[in-house]
Amino acid sequence: RSGSKPRDLLELRDIFIAVKTTRKYHKSRLELLIKTWISQAKEQTYIFTDGEDKELRMRTGANIINTNCSAAHTRQALCCKMSVEYDKFIESQKKWFCHVDDDNYVILPSLLQLLSSYHHSQDVYLGRPSLDHPIEAAERVKSDGSVSVKFWFATGGAGFCISRGLALKMSPWASLGNFISTAEKIRLPDDCTIGYIIEALLEVTLTHTHLFHSHLENLQKLPTDTVLEQVTLSYGGFENRRNVVSIVGGLSLAEDHTRNIFRKLLLTLPPFSCPMSCDS
Ligand code: UDP
Ligand code: MN
Repeated sequence: RSGSKPRDLLELRDIFIAVKTTRKYHKSRLELLIKTWISQAKEQTYIFTDGEDKELRMRTGANIINTNCSAAHTRQALCCKMSVEYDKFIESQKKWFCHVDDDNYVILPSLLQLLSSYHHSQDVYLGRPSLDHPIEAAERVKSDGSVSVKFWFATGGAGFCISRGLALKMSPWASLGNFISTAEKIRLPDDCTIGYIIEALLEVTLTHTHLFHSHLENLQKLPTDTVLEQVTLSYGGFENRRNVVSIVGGLSLAEDHTRNIFRKLLLTLPPFSCPMSCDS
C-alpha cells in the first residue's frame, strides 16, 4: 500500500444499517435479506420490527430490535420505528447512519465506496429525492404554522444515509421520542420528517444521489453494466411485472420473485471481505 492513502479508511463496521420491517414480513421479506446481503454485514445491520420472533433471532443470529411500536402502517407507528433507529444509532458510536426498507438490496461495496468520499464529522445527508421538486409544509416547529417552508427529503423506500456529525445536531428534534412529536407537529411521514429536520431546521441540504433506488422506478432501465455500481435496489409486487433488474444470466420471474435483485445478485457479486476489497 502506498503511503499516500488516507489513514482512516472507512470500513464496513463504521456503518450502522437500519432495516425497517414488521412482524408479518419476517418470513416473506426478512428471511431473504438475512440469507443475502445481511449475511455479509451481520454485525452492523440492525433490524427494527414490531413483534417478538425468538425463532428468527435464534436461528439467524441477526441483530433484531423489537421497537414495541404499533404494527399498523400509520405515520405514528412508522415514526416510532424511525425514532428507535435514530436512538440506537447514536448509542452505537458508528460513523454513518443508513436506513433501508425490508424490500431493499444493499450493495455493500458500493455503499462503502460512496460514503468513503465524505467525512462523517461533516454534515452529510445522502439519498434519492422522491419528487422532482421540494415539498412545502406549514412551519409548526419554529413558528406557529402561518408561514410555510420548502425542503427536499430522501425517499425512505430507496434508503438514505446521514453522517454522525449531522445526526448529533438533529438530537433536539429526533432523540428520545422527540422525533415523534416533530413528525406530529408537521403531520408528515417519517422520511419527510427527517428531511424537514435536516433541510428546514438545520439548513443542511440533501445531497441528491441516483445510486439509491426504490421500486417506484423502472429498474429495467438500469444498464446491465451499472447494476453492481448502485447502492440500493428494490423489488416491487407482482403487479409491477416490468421491474426486473437486467443482469447477465438473470433468473426468470418464477425463479426469483424479487426480479433478479436478491438471489441472483448475491451470486453475481464477488464475496465481500474487508479491508482487502474496500479501497481497491
Ligand atoms: N412496514 C411497517 N409496518 C407496516 C407496513 C410496512 O413497518 O404496517 C414497513 C415495511 O416493512 C417496509 C416499509 O414499511 O420496510 C415500506 O413498506 P412497503 O414496502 O410494504 O410499502 P411501500 O414501499 O409501497 O410504501
Ligand atoms: Mn416497498
